[in-house]
Amino acid sequence: MSNYYVEVIIIELSKRQQLIVTIVKGNSPITGEQIAEKLNLTRATLRPDLAILTMSGFLDARPRVGYFYVSKSGNQLFGEHIRKLYVRDYKSIPVVVKEDSSVYDAICMMFLEDVGNLFVVKEERMLSGVISRKDLLKATLGKQNLQEIPVGIVMTRMPNIITCSLDDSLYDAAKKLIYNQIDTLPVVKEIQSETNKKLEVVGRVTKTTITKVFVELGHDKEVL
Ligand code: ADP
Repeated sequence: MSNYYVEVIIIELSKRQQLIVTIVKGNSPITGEQIAEKLNLTRATLRPDLAILTMSGFLDARPRVGYFYVSKSGNQLFGEHIRKLYVRDYKSIPVVVKEDSSVYDAICMMFLEDVGNLFVVKEERMLSGVISRKDLLKATLGKQNLQEIPVGIVMTRMPNIITCSLDDSLYDAAKKLIYNQIDTLPVVKEIQSETNKKLEVVGRVTKTTITKVFVELGHDKEVL
C-alpha cells in the first residue's frame, strides 16, 4: 500500500474573527468603520480579518452598504470544504501491467503491490483496460493454464473505462466510484494526437483514498 500525506485545510477563526462575526450577525448591515469602533481598533487593523471572513464565506460585503452575516450551517461549510479537495492532491501511484502480461503475472502483481485492481496499459502508460480481483478469479474458473491467458482477454476494456482527471474534485471522483459500483478510477491525462485521443495513466483514486481523507477530516476541529 502506498504511503501518502493528506493535507486538510479547515478554516479556524481567531477570537477576534469570531467576535467580528458576532457583531455583524447582530448588526447587519454594518460598515468596517463601525465594526472597528465597537472593537476599539482601527479600520486598517481589521482589514485582513474582514478579507478572510468574506473570502471564506462567513460575511458578505456590499460596496457602500457594509457587511452582512451569511448564515451557513456547519454542514454547508463542511460540504463546501469537501468539494474543494482535488484529485491531484490525493491520488496515489498507479500499478500497471502490459496487455500481453499473463493472468498469472497479474495475480502475482496484485499480491506484491497489495492492490485490488491493476491498470492495463499499452505504449508504456496509455490506458487500455482495468483488471479487478473478480476478473482474475473468473479467469481461474476454467481449466486453462493461467500463464498462457493474457490479461487483455479478461480485463474491462476501453472505451468502457470510467476515469477521472487531475483537476476533478475528489468528491466527483467518489461519486463515480459509488454510482458505477467500482473500487478504482484511473487518473488520466488526455494526449491528443492527429489521429486519435489517448489517455495517459498518471495516478489512481480508490475507495481507500476516499476513506483515508474521511478519517483525516474526522481529526479536524469544528468549522464554526
Ligand atoms: P471487484 O471485481 O474486486 O469487485 P471492482 O468492483 O473494482 O472490483 O470491479 C468490478 C468490475 O468493474 C470488474 O469487471 C472490473 O474490471 C470493472 N472495473 C473496475 N474499475 C473500473 C473502471 N474504472 N471503469 C470501468 N470498469 C471498471
